Amino acid sequence: MLIVMKKDATRDDVNRVRDHVIALGYQPHEIPGSQRVCIGITGNNGKLNPEAFALLHGVDDAIPVSKPYKLVGRDAKPENSEINVEGEVIGGREIAIIAGPCSVESWEQLISTAEVVKDAGAKFLRGGAFKPRTSPYAFQGMKEEGLVLLREAKARTGLKIVTEAKDVLTLSSVSEVADVIQIGARNMHNFGLLEAVGELRKPVLLKRGISATIEELLMAAEYILARGNYDVILCERGIRTFEPYTRNTLDLNAIPVVKKLSHLPIIVDPSHGIGMWDGVASMALAGVAAGADGVMIEVHPEPASALSDGFQSLKPERFRDLVEKIKQLAPIVDRALSLEVA
Ligand code: PEP
Ligand code: MN
Repeated sequence: MLIVMKKDATRDDVNRVRDHVIALGYQPHEIPGSQRVCIGITGNNGKLNPEAFALLHGVDDAIPVSKPYKLVGRDAKPENSEINVEGEVIGGREIAIIAGPCSVESWEQLISTAEVVKDAGAKFLRGGAFKPRTSPYAFQGMKEEGLVLLREAKARTGLKIVTEAKDVLTLSSVSEVADVIQIGARNMHNFGLLEAVGELRKPVLLKRGISATIEELLMAAEYILARGNYDVILCERGIRTFEPYTRNTLDLNAIPVVKKLSHLPIIVDPSHGIGMWDGVASMALAGVAAGADGVMIEVHPEPASALSDGFQSLKPERFRDLVEKIKQLAPIVDRALSLEVA
């Protein structure tokens, strides 16, 4: 159920509706809009009676939501959500550039990558400290030590940190360093982890599962919003199809579809999407053309010696070239990319 407040509803009106929802044993989710406030109701197992709400003062309408997701849908919020990450907005006019190595490997590797991506125009540094690898024998990340390096790289460069939380156990140490907590494709269905990040008040980058449908991605995001964390950024990173030539198939269709169904921002990760460095730039540009709110690109100073995903990592000069092209493309799709370095 979605309670749409009147444009002139007062704070007291909104609070009265919230109290009423709580008194019934459900959770109210206040969703501020540019015109009016909506209150999403979750926690009810059966259908609610709209009349119980429609008569409250300040309420314009009470609409049953038939879709399986409620808070992430456009019904709950017609306008786009803009996620503010310590002053950098994802989901507005500006294209977000998130770049860095797949894994944090050493201080030299991290800081040299951070400096080049910043210089090229990135505002966010990515890098995994806890790596969910397919093989238990593959490099699992520098773990706590990697977090220390990420914190130091942020202090040096001012870049916002995007890093993955692999499990509930390490979530609190990751969230101390991360400005955006990444939930990886393999964890999109880890409902305990989704609930745990839902309890935090920190932006979450939720990657689409390897075989997840768009609706499953939205439902995973709903888990996070249902716990009161509304700052979720979705990420299309390729899905597994019958095509073995590329690592995954970057599902560009997902971008306009998500934009139609949800107010949440969505970015693309062409690095994992195609899995080959020489295809990354064109797929990044295709993602921006399709309406993505940002790109996440793996960059490594020496891809051949990377401990993970070197094959799909761009060298710094190629990354710089890509960012320039995104800047040129942005206005054609009514977006912008300002490259001035702070
Ligand atoms: C990553 O971003 O390095 C990563 C592991 O991505 P995904 O979860 O999409 O495979
Ligand atoms: Mn990777």
